Amino acid sequence: MEAEMDDHYVIIGGGHGGAQLCASLRQNGYLGRISMVSNENCLPYHRPPLSKAFLKHPDTEKQIIKPQAFYEDNNIELLLGHEVSAIERNSNNIALKNGMQLAYTKLILATGARARILDIPGSDANGVHYLKIANDAVRLRKELKKANNISVIGGGFIGLEAAATFAGLGKNVTVFEAGPRLLGRAVSPEISEYFLNQHRAGGMTIHLNAAVEEIAQLDGLVKGVKCDGSVTNADLVLIGIGVIANCEIAETAGLQCENGIEVDPHMQTSDPSILAIGDCVSFEHWQTGTHVRLESIQNANDQARNAALTLTGNLQPYSEVPWFWSDQGDDKLQIVGMSNNSERRIVKQQPGSNKISVFHFDRMSLLAIDTVNNQAEHMIGRRILAGHILPDFSDVSADDFDFRAFFKSIS
Ligand code: NAP
Repeated sequence: MEAEMDDHYVIIGGGHGGAQLCASLRQNGYLGRISMVSNENCLPYHRPPLSKAFLKHPDTEKQIIKPQAFYEDNNIELLLGHEVSAIERNSNNIALKNGMQLAYTKLILATGARARILDIPGSDANGVHYLKIANDAVRLRKELKKANNISVIGGGFIGLEAAATFAGLGKNVTVFEAGPRLLGRAVSPEISEYFLNQHRAGGMTIHLNAAVEEIAQLDGLVKGVKCDGSVTNADLVLIGIGVIANCEIAETAGLQCENGIEVDPHMQTSDPSILAIGDCVSFEHWQTGTHVRLESIQNANDQARNAALTLTGNLQPYSEVPWFWSDQGDDKLQIVGMSNNSERRIVKQQPGSNKISVFHFDRMSLLAIDTVNNQAEHMIGRRILAGHILPDFSDVSADDFDFRAFFKSIS
């Protein structure tokens, strides 16, 4: 106990993972010192509303995850608005950009990811935006009021959620997606098709296989998007073309990194006194056996809980079932499991219904389920993929397969 009271756990990153780790360490009875360093000058906040409610309603505040009192009551020191410049592993210190040093017993990297920058002519024009953190959303919301024609580059999660918000505000919205379908890396072709039709029906213009060449500008202000030789007028452009893991300080410190900071099943990096969690982490997934980097709130929170177990001496291999959601206009997309680009799938949709479930298989074994507007089946998927009693390919392919009845039969 004496040793623990002298320990100092330092968390770098004030996102979902960092906030959850603070809470889980105290819940697990850790009594030592905790510091959380964040380069954002605010308490950790919920990110999903930034592309939706926050943009829609000019008076909406950020939704903080835990109030200031939580950090005070739990004796958690917050160093907000501070950038870490280096990890000095020989002396167990981190250096902050302002010259300050902080000694750690254990260091936890929850550094997340940053927006990938589109480097084409004109992409530095005024009126070109990215949307990753609250400050981005504040800037975007300010300019949104006077924008009528909005171009969105990237038909992934950020692009489509924001595009649906813009369309809901009555803007003329054009989406440029480089791939042959929307959300191409995340969902099955049937779900991509559903969202293409929904967004087009909602008034958006969507270009697939779109090679954006240039952002047209006049006097430094965005005027349009040049794609495949023609220019679409735009007075605001949002770019959402993916993210890059923030692992530079880990790499420079000599930690093993490849598409993220590599961790073992207990969130430990190649240095046992340093752990890493969340979007910045690459780990061998228990289901696929391959190294993956997952960009989701569920993964950040669950890896934080796992790291807290490790840090309090209760090592348990990370084996959570991944899940994810995206609200686009009135539609709710939910994903559970890892489809691993499997080509073998069964689509269940009643004619005319806006509820879809797509079951992904590896030969006979269920891997993942994508659902649209079907919260009940998504929740069943989360329960059964965790419990390992699964319907096989022949069960699901039967015309009268009833997922709820199946779940009842095994409960
Ligand atoms: P994303 O979901 O990876 O989508 C990026 C999309 O942009 C992909 O479809 C990609 O196509 C396309 N793209 C790449 N380069 C392009 C180019 N030059 N021109 C046009 N399209 C291009 O990434 P994101 O939408 O930027 O989201 C960023 C992060 O926020 C992700 O970590 C995401 O998980 C997270 N996020 C989560 C939620 C949620 O939990 N609901 C919501 C919003 C954002 P290819 O695949 O063909 O490269």
